[in-house]
Amino acid sequence: MSSTQNSNQAVLILIKPDGLKKSLTGNILTRLSETKLEIVAAKMVRVSKKLAEEHYQHLKDKPFFQELIKYLQGELHDRKKVMALIYWGDDAIEKCRGLAGATNPEQADPTSIRGSYGRILTSGLFENVIHVSSNVSEAEREIKLWFSPAEIIVDLYPKKETVFKECKKQEWA
Ligand code: ADP
Repeated sequence: MSSTQNSNQAVLILIKPDGLKKSLTGNILTRLSETKLEIVAAKMVRVSKKLAEEHYQHLKDKPFFQELIKYLQGELHDRKKVMALIYWGDDAIEKCRGLAGATNPEQADPTSIRGSYGRILTSGLFENVIHVSSNVSEAEREIKLWFSPAEIIVDLYPKKETVFKECKKQEWA
């Protein structure tokens, strides 16, 4: 699918462990459905330290980085999973970030997702229930980090075929 004719974009959304613990999945997906964007991939993910660190690589020098990694891995909420989705369509990034609200939940519009459901921990970490890619290049980097091409129902980026020999794969018994 071409993104040259219009401003169709893909955006990675994560419902973070606090969002899952607070049973906010339904509320968040309902809010996002206002955008009329298409969901082109969705899955539950148990987040490894490596994945969390790569996802937040731009923050590795921040004092809250280690706690942020634990947060994304679910170690602060005893919910070791996140829900990962890709939304696709016209101006997807701006629409989803608008609904999510500002990074700091206390500065976010109170009617936004983060303004409604986020909080600041006593440590200072922003617990803000949802991740939304910040721009087109970050969205591509993040989508390639979280999803393989076969998990996405549209063609977003160029892909290649590789033959794996003697590769162990699980199937139904
Ligand atoms: P966003 O998630 O809005 O794209 P960032 O990529 O800058 O923002 O930050 C990633 C996450 O790190 C935030 O969603 C939040 O959980 C946490 N965070 C960012 N900045 C701070 C901060 N100054 N203090 C505490 N936590 C922060």
